[in-house]
Amino acid sequence: MLLRLLALARAPVELAEAEVAVGDEGAHAELFGEQTFYLASADLTASALKARIARLPGGRQYFIQIYPSYAVRLARGLLTEGLELAVYPKAVIGVTETMTAANAALIGSAFRCRVVNHYSAWEVFHFAQSCPDSPESLHVNSERAILRVVRDDGSYAPPGERGRVLLTDLSNFVMPFINYDIGDMAVMGPPCPCGRGLPTLRNLEGRVGRQSRPRKGSCGAWSARACY
Ligand SMILES: [Zn+2]
Repeated sequence: MLLRLLALARAPVELAEAEVAVGDEGAHAELFGEQTFYLASADLTASALKARIARLPGGRQYFIQIYPSYAVRLARGLLTEGLELAVYPKAVIGVTETMTAANAALIGSAFRCRVVNHYSAWEVFHFAQSCPDSPESLHVNSERAILRVVRDDGSYAPPGERGRVLLTDLSNFVMPFINYDIGDMAVMGPPCPCGRGLPTLRNLEGRVGRQSRPRKGSCGAWSARACY
């Protein structure tokens, strides 16, 4: 059952409507009992989103799962154009990219809801998310995975020190990942004042990027400062 739930959780449905690209009605609705819109279109405008939300049955609750950069663009559109949504989401869940505090504040202001920074990966998913009481910290889901932040020599990086993220998946019995270097950099945090007692990440800095030097000069990054 756990594996089924996790499989559902990692697979939001993405519809192909180019103008809106909203996904729902499937995995997340089954898992959460709510509707989740997976907004994955770079072309989605604030006015198109407003129109889509207006077609929801009255009062229907929903979540938005989205790249933070897309959410920022939509948030600016809503605010600058003075657009109001018929129903505001229960939460905006940022995935794939780094969510900065400034962007979270902007998104929360425009969508009038809580903003969740969700840390997951295709290899090991759902292993951290922002604390509902202290959103500057991410709680590590220790029942899902053991997360360590280490120095280059493999020793623990203490809270406040940047290091590489290593993961041990506790639920994948088919393809074990043990101390798996996921390629992200992060900083462990102190115990969260909320009292939940889970390990915390204070800063998630995203992928270790590689750089290339194009023929004509300047450096370019192969990978974005993103995490997923
Ligand atoms: Zn907390």
